[in-house]
Amino acid sequence: MATERTLSIIKPDGTQRNLTGKINARFEDAGLRIVAQKRIWMSRKQAEGFYAVHAARPFFGELCDFMCSGPVVVQVLEGEGAIAKNREVMGATDPKKAAPGTIRADFALSIGENTVHGSDAPETAANEIAYFFAQTEIVG
Ligand code: GDP
Repeated sequence: MATERTLSIIKPDGTQRNLTGKINARFEDAGLRIVAQKRIWMSRKQAEGFYAVHAARPFFGELCDFMCSGPVVVQVLEGEGAIAKNREVMGATDPKKAAPGTIRADFALSIGENTVHGSDAPETAANEIAYFFAQTEIVG
């Protein structure tokens, strides 16, 4: 399997509960390397742009309000099959459906406040990484 990069976000419910280190340990234990990372507070416009693909969904407003309600940690994870591996480590969107031992099963508060984001495909990963990081900020 090829080495890939994926965008991860530790969402405001995760930073608020001081879970950054615990979540990063899950990634590293799974063989994913954190090759870029920064803590930012997204503007409403930045959140709307990031989630533009969901603009027509009924939860869009709630999602953007949540994502700019506090700091987030945006990061680039690198590893073999990193996109699928990160989705596995994260667990299903709805924590009630997430497999035991996944980040969302262990930490998420609800389907909206679900602690982490991870890109879902190579093209989205490339676009999402470029949304937050310059090439020079990613050090593999
Ligand atoms: P993901 O790829 O697992 O993050 O899931 P999606 O791409 O389907 O949705 C993006 C994000 O929108 C999710 O991580 C949730 O934070 C939020 N979301 C998805 N479905 C719902 C919902 O039914 N209600 C609310 N409030 N938020 C949702």
